[in-house]
Amino acid sequence: MTAALLELCSVSKTYGAGPACVRALHGVDLQVCAGELVAVMGPSGSGKSTLLTIAGSLEEPTEGQVFFEGTPLSGLSPNARARLRRRHIGYVFQDFNLLAGLTAVENISMPLELDGVRARQARAEGLRALEELGMADRASAFPDELSGGMRQRVAIARALVGERRLLLADEPTGALDTDTSEGVMRLIRSACRQGAGAVLVTHEAQLASWADRVVFVRDGRIVDTSAAPDGPEVLLPSPGESGR
Ligand code: ADP
Repeated sequence: MTAALLELCSVSKTYGAGPACVRALHGVDLQVCAGELVAVMGPSGSGKSTLLTIAGSLEEPTEGQVFFEGTPLSGLSPNARARLRRRHIGYVFQDFNLLAGLTAVENISMPLELDGVRARQARAEGLRALEELGMADRASAFPDELSGGMRQRVAIARALVGERRLLLADEPTGALDTDTSEGVMRLIRSACRQGAGAVLVTHEAQLASWADRVVFVRDGRIVDTSAAPDGPEVLLPSPGESGR
């Protein structure tokens, strides 16, 4: 049996200690396979972003394990973990996080260069990614010369360039209009068709409908999982939770 791309096993996360401590996640189990798009929904403060940062190894769980392609992240040295993050995991945030002083193509190629790819090859890959997005003519534009939708397309290209296999997106369509948001979702879906796995945090049901599976989080627990309309229906309420 092939290992899931990403697996969270009984993951809990507590911030702080004593009376100020916040239990952000309780015993979360989640698997994401290659090619699969999983949407995470839930009220504000329910633990969605914490789940995403732990999935991307930006934070460590207080309890439980995270596996990337079957390898437990806790068994890796900090350097090996940083390398895995850089090489294989792409992050997209609501505010794009593009570097203002770099052009579109430089923003995309920079992570490759950081990972040791030669500048020329990194630039060629960046240009190819922009071409795929229909933005080849904007390669030399700086972020503030691009529309919000274009900036987000650059951010997604940067998250997917190279050998990245897992895309983690936290409200990636933020303030974008409906058409542009759908374009962003089309891009994420297309990355999944090409074999990436993706986890998308969103509060918009319409965007979640692009996912193969929607996971609902409440008070740090996964309370419900529903498959896409044409997939098999799975209901996994946690003990004592009704979910909806
Ligand atoms: P969501 O993304 O669903 O809004 P979060 O994962 O951001 O939820 O937060 C879950 C809970 O953990 C909230 O109560 C939040 O205040 C708390 N929390 C998140 N990050 C931190 C942090 N770095 N330090 C302390 N508490 C935090």
